[in-house]
Amino acid sequence: MPGFELFGDKERQEVNDVLDNGVIMRYGFDGMRKGHWKAKELEVELQHTFQSKHVQLVSSGTAAVSVALASAGVGAGDEVIMPTFTFVASFEAIMMLGAIPILVDIDDTLGLDPKAVEAAITHKTKAIMVVQMCGSMANMDALQNISDSHNLLLVEDACQAIGGTYKGKSLGSIGDLGCFSFDFVKTITCGEGGAVVTNNETYYTNADHYSDHGHDHVGNDRGAESHPFLGYNFRISELHAAVGLAQVKRLPEFLEIQKRNFNILQEALGTIPEVTFRTVPEGGEESCAFLNFFLPDLETARQVIQGFKEGGIDVCWNYYDNNWHYIRKWEHLKELKSLFPISKEVKEGLKYLKTKTFDQSNHYIGRNISCLIKLSWTEVEVKDRAEKMVEIIKAILKI
Ligand SMILES: *Cc1c(COP(=O)(O)O)cnc(C)c1O
Repeated sequence: MPGFELFGDKERQEVNDVLDNGVIMRYGFDGMRKGHWKAKELEVELQHTFQSKHVQLVSSGTAAVSVALASAGVGAGDEVIMPTFTFVASFEAIMMLGAIPILVDIDDTLGLDPKAVEAAITHKTKAIMVVQMCGSMANMDALQNISDSHNLLLVEDACQAIGGTYKGKSLGSIGDLGCFSFDFVKTITCGEGGAVVTNNETYYTNADHYSDHGHDHVGNDRGAESHPFLGYNFRISELHAAVGLAQVKRLPEFLEIQKRNFNILQEALGTIPEVTFRTVPEGGEESCAFLNFFLPDLETARQVIQGFKEGGIDVCWNYYDNNWHYIRKWEHLKELKSLFPISKEVKEGLKYLKTKTFDQSNHYIGRNISCLIKLSWTEVEVKDRAEKMVEIIKAILKI
């Protein structure tokens, strides 16, 4: 997945454009910037890439999720349904607004289980946040039906699924609002950066103002701008946008490499009857940023991970034992270890985490192995790796 692997002359050229005039900020200083508007240009490129009417760049993927929710009016005491398998950013972004993350089970797509979502809806629910983990997607039709029939927002975190599609639509462009990250390890990188995409003009205008102190961006005298509402600073810098601008133009090339490498590994592992793959909903096309497969049980998955380590197979994980991506190890959330006082509503709202179990999520995450697909691997290297992985798994399964 990581676009940084192929950082090169095109990225340097875009950054040099910015360094030549020294306008590192995305807004204002029209006269000094000699026509260079990297953030604006990147927003236009992303509109085409993600087939969305509006794109607002921000400082990170986490900021994108928070800005998206804020732009649609989610705030204090509102409940946002999210999956147990995601990145810590999901609940961070929700809690930053004083809203309450309601974690629910995933299914064999490794995304939100629609049945679990439906069961979690209360009168406080404001949004369903689907996270398209590891290059693929949840059952989007089912989730869209639920959000429509309950009049809820559908927010799509597509940070790990840049370039994936569902029924011809870009992941991230399907919900009311979509969120992307361009941090250092994502499929395209800005170093640090993110984007909110939407077809809703009001949400877009809100995101534009909110991510820059509430400034309304009318005219070209920043000091004269008025503030229709409160905001914060989640701006991206022009230097970061410049890197992203070079990278987004190379996305088709990146996706092609990912797909080639993914197919080689999947074909090899598919010869082992005990190995099964995550379900990709009908009409879905993975971005191929990761290959995810299931083994018969947790113990086997742990042994395979150990075998991979010893055999020099890197960038594969079993998230059951991982601190970043799965509820099981998020003690800091369950115990609400905060540097500052948390509101009564959020404290009350999160009490369920002390006792709630997620057996269905454990069932899938425990048996799952997730392998990053690198862009820098040569075809020969991937074939070698595939052969080794098959050998290791077969030895552990004793077949
Ligand atoms: C990377 C990531 C984010 C956060 O992005 P940052 O740019 O690192 O803040 C959010 N959600 C998911 C699923 C991610 O993988």
